[in-house]
Amino acid sequence: MPYRAPLADIRFCLDHVVDAARLAETDKFAEATSETAEAVLTEIARLADETLVPLQRAGDAGCIVTADGVTTPAGFPAGYKAIAEGGWLGLAADPEQGGMGLPLTLQTAMNEMFSSACLSLSLCPLMTQGSIEALTAHASPELQERYLPKLISGEWTGTMNLTEGQAGSDVGALKTKAEAQGDGSYKVDGQKIYISWGDHDVAENIVHLVLARLPDAPKGSKGISLFLVPKILPDGSRNGVKTVSIEHKMGLHGSPTCVLAYEGATGWLVGEENNGLACMFTMMNNARLGVGVEGLGTAEAAYQHALAYATDRVQGKAITPADHAGTGAIIDHPDVRRMLMEMKAYTQAVRAICYDTAVSLDMAHAAPEDERKRWARRGAFLTPLAKAFGTASGMHVSEMGVQVHGGMGFIEETGAAQFYRDVRVTAIYEGTNGIQAADLVGRKLSMDGGETARAVLDDAAEIIEAAKSAGLEDLATGLAITHQAAAEATVWMLEQNDMAERLAGSMPYLTLMSHLHGGALLAKGATAAKQSGDSAHVPRIAVAHFHATQIAPQAEALARAATAGSAALYALTADQFAA
Ligand SMILES: Cc1cc2nc3c(=O)[nH]c(=O)nc-3n(C[C@H](O)[C@H](O)[C@H](O)COP(=O)(O)OP(=O)(O)OC[C@H]3O[C@@H](n4cnc5c(N)ncnc54)[C@H](O)[C@@H]3O)c2cc1C
Repeated sequence: MPYRAPLADIRFCLDHVVDAARLAETDKFAEATSETAEAVLTEIARLADETLVPLQRAGDAGCIVTADGVTTPAGFPAGYKAIAEGGWLGLAADPEQGGMGLPLTLQTAMNEMFSSACLSLSLCPLMTQGSIEALTAHASPELQERYLPKLISGEWTGTMNLTEGQAGSDVGALKTKAEAQGDGSYKVDGQKIYISWGDHDVAENIVHLVLARLPDAPKGSKGISLFLVPKILPDGSRNGVKTVSIEHKMGLHGSPTCVLAYEGATGWLVGEENNGLACMFTMMNNARLGVGVEGLGTAEAAYQHALAYATDRVQGKAITPADHAGTGAIIDHPDVRRMLMEMKAYTQAVRAICYDTAVSLDMAHAAPEDERKRWARRGAFLTPLAKAFGTASGMHVSEMGVQVHGGMGFIEETGAAQFYRDVRVTAIYEGTNGIQAADLVGRKLSMDGGETARAVLDDAAEIIEAAKSAGLEDLATGLAITHQAAAEATVWMLEQNDMAERLAGSMPYLTLMSHLHGGALLAKGATAAKQSGDSAHVPRIAVAHFHATQIAPQAEALARAATAGSAALYALTADQFAA
């Protein structure tokens, strides 16, 4: 059974878990009413189900590079055109530039569906959304006028060029050069690697956002500037950007990952000189949420495939509780149920975290002035959770999806393995998950002396109390264990002045906070479901209960690792690792 967009779950999460209705109460997003959301999401779901889903398997065939450039898999140009013609590239873009001006939250729900349907194609609009944001925030009015309308309409696409051979996680090590040409433009020279959708045949022009150094720029990340370098120049001629090759990858074959050579290419400065990294971060922050959503989308699709297989495949007779009406298929076996419950619980928790992050980022622009900083900090704190936990969960769920399929999971024709192969890179690009964890315990935890972290903990405590009052005692007890562990680990982290100690526990801490926040949001949904008395919501209560009692309590072990400090990690010398 192919993926179908889970509109009911998406709506439930928006309405009852992350309170997306608050967005329509602001002036900025007054048009984002429940009716608008319904209409927009229904249309996007149809596009995902009917047009994009068939491209997922076709995309696995990969791209071809010739002297004329990159050819994407069959059906990709038409699939991309359908996204562009729907106006979906501009869903969250400025209406004055031709966008719809809707919240990032709805864009996040859209990105989930696109990612589920065909991850490799969905990366193209994701990069373009980021380019639109960066140019809207930092480009001159002339550049905006020339490039934004075409990016928003989807006639052109955008890329993000940071990485070079010696400059991966350490972007400050990049060497690409830019030099003023005296006419307002710059000459860009250098080689970028791993550039997603760096060349393709789905749109007529590509707007590359390139980080480079001006002559005499300060060393490191303080000497980086951002340039807009189009594939086709405004006079219609080809710019000096050459596709050297495309990478042979483990997965995500439909997304061309290019080595690009800039040879005297003409570009224009975006933002101020030497402030390029900050400008690029405008793009990267929302792209980080977008990549977390790639994990979410893949998890949902992998879950649906595994569920379909588990309800169809017959193998032995299951030993089930006496009152359980079996189906005769492998879904009756306890261990298959464990996998399916875990897949569903992780997916729903990640959806809640990602949508909640999006609501915070939206409110940071739309809330009354005096509340914006608080929302911005909340969004900033949650972004590494959304990115790293979202993608780790995408890997975990799709790996379990392979297992549910048994041997057929290892055989490519079911598509189960493709989800796992495709999603693997999401934990690596857009800042590796290790970098996200470092960002959480370094910058985000300290940005306000721990106030945002404590607010997230307080919100969870309130939700736990409400769940208890609604009669969900087991669930509340399970989550209370998680809460205590998370609270203690947060205090410990904040007490460490030596960053090496914090960093040693960064990934367990990120996972711990994600289990708490995801579990709390699921509990909030379960409480609303219980109070509604609507039997259609019964499964949501069961999933939240499973999460709170069987997943979230991993918190205790995670808290130990988060607060163990660096000694155990550095117990061996580099030589002793090889001994
Ligand atoms: C398919 C694909 C698409 C990509 N698309 C793009 C793109 O469109 N644009 C672009 O600019 N780049 C892109 N990238 C590059 C990607 O962002 C980098 O691969 C990533 O930032 C990691 O850099 P690296 O590969 O050099 O790994 P390294 O930086 O060498 O990292 C190796 C390991 O060391 C760890 N590590 C390194 N530094 C630290 C640190 N300070 N703290 C903790 N751990 C650390 C990492 O977490 C990782 O586990 C893409 C990569 C791939 C594979």
